[in-house]
Amino acid sequence: MVGYICAKCESEIDINPVREKIICPECSGRVILKKRPVEKKTVEAR
Ligand SMILES: [Zn+2]
Repeated sequence: MVGYICAKCESEIDINPVREKIICPECSGRVILKKRPVEKKTVEAR
């Protein structure tokens, strides 16, 4: 499941973007950012 974060109040939004409109329930903001899974990049510095 992909999480979303409101760009306004930065609250996490847990919705289904397919069925529901992506609107922040907290501030009704429509600017929603996709929350990227924390991905640790393995950079090997040699
Ligand atoms: Zn919001």
